[in-house]
Amino acid sequence: MLVVIGRLASIVACGILAALLVAGTPAPGAAHSVAPIEDRMVQSLCRTHGCPNDETTRPWIDLITEVGQPIVGRTSLLQRYGHVHVFVFGAQAPNAVALIHSIGITAGLGRLGLERDEFAFVVAHELAHIDLGHVQRKVDRIQTTTAIRVLLNVIVRSDAYDPLFRLLQEAVLASFGRELETDADLRGLKLMREAGFNGEAAATALAKIAGRGVERTGDLFDSHPSVTERIRRIREALAASGVSPPPPSPAALRQRL
Ligand SMILES: [Zn+2]
Repeated sequence: MLVVIGRLASIVACGILAALLVAGTPAPGAAHSVAPIEDRMVQSLCRTHGCPNDETTRPWIDLITEVGQPIVGRTSLLQRYGHVHVFVFGAQAPNAVALIHSIGITAGLGRLGLERDEFAFVVAHELAHIDLGHVQRKVDRIQTTTAIRVLLNVIVRSDAYDPLFRLLQEAVLASFGRELETDADLRGLKLMREAGFNGEAAATALAKIAGRGVERTGDLFDSHPSVTERIRRIREALAASGVSPPPPSPAALRQRL
């Protein structure tokens, strides 16, 4: 634990607003072994996007910490790491990331003005990525597909087909990414609802983020499913657990007439 706090201090020193989401007892050696890699990942994000460290970001950190407490208690993260870092980086597009035992949001996401339950879904989705070991699984998949690509180049005894093999590798990785995103959505939805948040907010959060963020097509080379698809799966999961969709708004009704 002392080692982890030391690492946290070094992260704060590079300008990132960080907080302990949850304090607990990490498994012996677990947090220590990943902390240096995590530091490098966070510092890289910080170098690329800048890390605002002022009064504008403090309320977002506080909100993530507040909604994250009841959610993280329903994951295995306390046993594995003892805590989760929270940080803000300065990218404008509304987005969030999960690292090894840190979650970060962009300043653009903070400015989006999500409701409390919507923020809870974003946090739950990122915590689900960590809880399900997605970072490691992605790294493993990249290594495996790269090894296969190299082997294919050897088999055909030429680099001429490498651009094609790279495209295939990208398609395989994108498909795997979409699978992981769906898993994180559904696990995140379950976690947030168990923690007492309104599951409907998962759908509205995705719609709001999509309205201001990167256009997702969910096609062959997209690492995320389309927002329509993600919302459909969330509504299906809610319906399966007995939650009916909200009535259409007056504006939506007018559009249908
Ligand atoms: Zn995700």
